[in-house]
Amino acid sequence: MVIDPRRRVPRTDAVLAEPRVAAAAVRLGRQLVKQAVTAAQQRVRDSALPPDEIVDAVLGALPPAATTLRPVLNATGVLLHTNLGRAPLGAAAREAVAVAAGTCDVELDLATGTRGRRGAGVVDALLAAVPGASGAHVVNNGAAALALVAATLAAGREIVVSRGELVEIGDGFRIPDLVESTGARLREVGTTNRTHLADYERAIGPDTAFVLKVHPSNFTVTGFTSAVGPAELAGLGVPVVVDIGSGLLAPHPLLPDEPDAAGMLAAGAALVTASGDKLLGGPQAGLILGDAGLVERVRRFPLARAMRVDKLTLAALEATLRGPVPPVRAALDAPVAELRARADALAARLAGLDVQVVDSHATVGGGGAPGVVLPSVALSLPEPYAAALRAGSPAVLGRLEGGRCLLDLRALGRADDETLAGCVRAVRSGP
Ligand SMILES: *Cc1c(COP(=O)(O)O)cnc(C)c1O
Repeated sequence: MVIDPRRRVPRTDAVLAEPRVAAAAVRLGRQLVKQAVTAAQQRVRDSALPPDEIVDAVLGALPPAATTLRPVLNATGVLLHTNLGRAPLGAAAREAVAVAAGTCDVELDLATGTRGRRGAGVVDALLAAVPGASGAHVVNNGAAALALVAATLAAGREIVVSRGELVEIGDGFRIPDLVESTGARLREVGTTNRTHLADYERAIGPDTAFVLKVHPSNFTVTGFTSAVGPAELAGLGVPVVVDIGSGLLAPHPLLPDEPDAAGMLAAGAALVTASGDKLLGGPQAGLILGDAGLVERVRRFPLARAMRVDKLTLAALEATLRGPVPPVRAALDAPVAELRARADALAARLAGLDVQVVDSHATVGGGGAPGVVLPSVALSLPEPYAAALRAGSPAVLGRLEGGRCLLDLRALGRADDETLAGCVRAVRSGP
C-alpha cells in the first residue's frame, strides 16, 4: 500500500484554529501566521518535523512583531554598525516613541487649543545642549541637512571647499555630488593633502555663498598634510558651514579628533550640520545648528518641507537629548575592566562550552572616528557558532577572527548579557 505522506500533514485551518496560533494571528495579522503554517507543513511533508509538533514549530517561527525586521544583538565591536541601523535607541527614547506613536500634540498647543510649533521640544533641547547655537532645525538625515543648507544659501552660487574634503559617505553617494544636485556650484581649492588659507582667499568672490568644511569622518590622511580650521576661515568674511558628521554636540575626551558642534560654532562657524544616529546616539536625523537668522531661512525654504521628520523621530531625538546617557555613549565610555568582568561572568555561565575570554578591539564605525581603537573584551567560540547565532532569535552578529567567532561586548549593554548567554546556549543545544 502506498501511503500518501500529505495525508499526515495537519490542515491549515486546523492549525490556525489552535488558540495560541489564533491569538498570534490577531496580534500579527493572518498573513504572516499563515506563511509560518505553510512553511511548517512543508517541513512535515519533508519528514523534517513530526506532525504533532507543528503548532510549536509555527509559534517558534513567528516574528516578534509584524515586521520582517529582526532584532539583532550587535556583538561585532563596531559601535555604530550601519547594517544594523547605527545607534540603538535608549530606553527613554523608546518610551518617547511609544508616546508619539499614538495621536499626540506634535503641532498643537494644548493650553490654547490652537496650532503649536512642530518640533519645538527638540529645538529647545538642542539649544540647551549647544548654548553657542541661537537656532536649530531638524531634517531627515545628515545628508539632507547639508543639501538643505546648500539649496537655501547657495543655489546658483558658489560653495568653496577643500579638495581634501570631497568625501564619499557610503553606498556610492558623495558629498560633492549631493551639494551640486541642489544647483550650487563647487569651487574646489587646495590639494588632497594640503590646503592653505591663501587657497580659500583666492577663491572667494562676489559669487561665494559660503565656505564648506566637511569632516573626513571615514578616513584619515597622514603625513605631509595641512588643513585650515574654522576659526581662520571665519575671518574671510563669508559664512562658514561645517559638516561635522558624527553629531557630537560637545567634545569627547576619547575622541580628540572628532569635531563637535559647540566647538565649531565657538570657532566662528555660522552653521553646523550633523547626523542624529551617530555619536549623538539618537534616531536617524539631520541637525542644522547655528545662527538663528540663517536657520530660519533654511527652515522656511520650500525644500525643507520635503525633508520634514516625523513625530517618532522628534520624540526619540528629544528624549535622547534630555534623557540619560544613550547606549552608544555608554558603550564608548565603558571601562575595559567592566567589560572583562561581564565576559568572565558570561564565560562562567557557559561553562562546558569551548569558550574563552579574549582581549579584543572595538571601533566607533558608522563613518566616525576612523583610526580610533577602543580596547575591548570578547567571548571566543568555535567558528560555526557565527552562522548559528545569526539564525537565532534574537539573532547575534559576531566577528570572525583567526578562525574563531568573537562576541565583542563593547557595543552591547550589560542588560543584553542574559539574552546573549541564552542565545549561545540555544546554539549548543541545537535545533
Ligand atoms: C555620515 C555623514 C554624512 C551623512 O549623514 P547621514 O545622516 O548618513 O545622511 C555626511 N557628512 C559626514 C561628514 C558624515 O560623516
